[in-house]
Amino acid sequence: MPRNRKDFLVIGLGRFGESVARGLVERGHEVLAIDLDENIVRELSPIVTHAIQADATDESALESIGAGNFDVAIVAIGDDVHANTLVTLMLKELGVPCVISKSKSKVHGKILKKVGADRVVFPEWDMGSRLANSLLTSNVQDYLELAPNYSIMEIKAKNKWVGQTLAELNFRARFGVNVVAIMRNSDINPSPIAEDEISEGDILVVIGHNDDLEKMEEK
Ligand code: ATP
Repeated sequence: MPRNRKDFLVIGLGRFGESVARGLVERGHEVLAIDLDENIVRELSPIVTHAIQADATDESALESIGAGNFDVAIVAIGDDVHANTLVTLMLKELGVPCVISKSKSKVHGKILKKVGADRVVFPEWDMGSRLANSLLTSNVQDYLELAPNYSIMEIKAKNKWVGQTLAELNFRARFGVNVVAIMRNSDINPSPIAEDEISEGDILVVIGHNDDLEKMEEK
């Protein structure tokens, strides 16, 4: 039977690691959190499923906690680039199917990919570009880069869209973007169809190339 709940390993409990760990627990997942610093581990113990003080660069420590059995591992060690890289490599060697590593620089990000990271995240850069986008575009509520040049954008319905269906608006043909969801008050329509009509206050979740999303926002 497929499992919806996954087991997560979070290594490094700075602001980023802590926030990932808390978010996962709040959504009902099991989280084993590891940090070198025992004070940090003590603070997070009541929140996560298990918190362990350990040096994650110690392969035997990773083995003894059964790191290889986790579905997903997040390597959130920041300043110690060597430790971050080594831990990423060891987790892949131990057989973790999905290892996500945090990086502070693009060069380090490339190295992480080379040693096997399935995904590299750049929290500072991503947040910076999201903020810039939301400051520069009045209708855009949120913006998430999925891959270089491709993003998901949440855009407030423009007045001229109100009362028209997705078929009439024809965003796919006009801009090459796809509306993947429509949010209305606290409801979400996760699979909008051509006949769905836009109402005032709707927020459209749109996926596409950054240039096309920008065109859609401007027009
Ligand atoms: P933030 O997420 O707050 O921006 P940061 O990017 O500055 O953090 P660091 O503070 O360098 O990152 O590291 C995050 C956490 O990782 C720290 O709490 C640190 O104790 C922990 N850490 C560093 N090296 C290891 C290691 N080898 N094993 C386990 N935890 C480690």
